[in-house]
Amino acid sequence: MTFASTPPLDFRSDTVTRPDEEMRAAMARAEVADNVIDTDPTVRALEERAADLLGAEAALWTPSGTMANLIALSIHLHRGDRFLATRGAHVLNNELGSAAWLAGGMPEPLDHDGGPGRPSPRAVRASAGTRTGPYYALHTTLLCLENTHNAAGGAITPPDEHAQLVAAARGAGLTVHLDGARLWNAAAALGLPPAALTVGVDTVSACFSKGLGAPVGSVVAGGEEFVEQARRMRQMLGGGVRQGGVLAAAGLLALDRIGDLAQDHANARALATGLRELGWDTTEPQTNIVLARVPDVALTLDQLRGSGVLALPMAGMVRFVTHRDVTAADVDDALTRIKELNR
Ligand SMILES: *Cc1c(COP(=O)(O)O)cnc(C)c1O
Repeated sequence: MTFASTPPLDFRSDTVTRPDEEMRAAMARAEVADNVIDTDPTVRALEERAADLLGAEAALWTPSGTMANLIALSIHLHRGDRFLATRGAHVLNNELGSAAWLAGGMPEPLDHDGGPGRPSPRAVRASAGTRTGPYYALHTTLLCLENTHNAAGGAITPPDEHAQLVAAARGAGLTVHLDGARLWNAAAALGLPPAALTVGVDTVSACFSKGLGAPVGSVVAGGEEFVEQARRMRQMLGGGVRQGGVLAAAGLLALDRIGDLAQDHANARALATGLRELGWDTTEPQTNIVLARVPDVALTLDQLRGSGVLALPMAGMVRFVTHRDVTAADVDDALTRIKELNR
């Protein structure tokens, strides 16, 4: 309770970042127009830049990553289809089942037998074998990848393995969607352009509102034809916003900050090392997420909160996420607070 009077150190998610002065100023001066009637120039600029970064023909701004994924899956899937996704994927666990009950696909979770956050190409081929069959059989039509993989602790799928997974899916006639909410983190950690991690996919989603600090906004990218369908679907879902340039201006500035993610990754490594020195059992972070195995997750989260350190449960563990609103000094401060805990 020693630290109860000081502000809590918030490691719950990289979504808790607040737009700073520079970002608020960029939002305030954004050039805008009605993006439902025709086109908002700042939204268009963001979409073009995001498409370019992601190696896609075109892109569409969405209010959230959940909507971006739902739009992609709704276009790819039809009733009676099955889709493959890695166990623990956001589309399976954190989107209220919308992939099934709105997009119409029966989910098939795949184990991470290719490494943290990814199936093996062999498992993809084996599970995809039901595209044809009797009329009452599900048709497996889509592979959904996630890079970095949240529930696997921000694990990166490297480009060569990504290529093998896409080849396996393609060989089996599957469409491929990549949930790249944190693709920027993978790119920054590998020192590669984001487009190096999207090779061969049909569609990709990515967030501006995670580590990059924008208050809102994501994107779904793919071919021109896909994006025209996606625009209709976004409207159907109530995601058509009028003077969206105010929000897109934050996204544009966010994209200037991909390089800053390296600091979050260094902070995550420092946090994991410090926790291990205190006897915690943690994963070695590849990006900005640290998972800790503890006997009683709820109890530990309570104790942490009492010491002014906020975290969340994930995959039966305690998840700490570093982001641009926690500094290296904050990580040291958190470790000092945690050291005081009588574990
Ligand atoms: C956060 C997240 C999303 C969804 O983003 P929201 O903007 O919160 O809807 C999708 N996929 C992954 C892997 C995420 O971490």
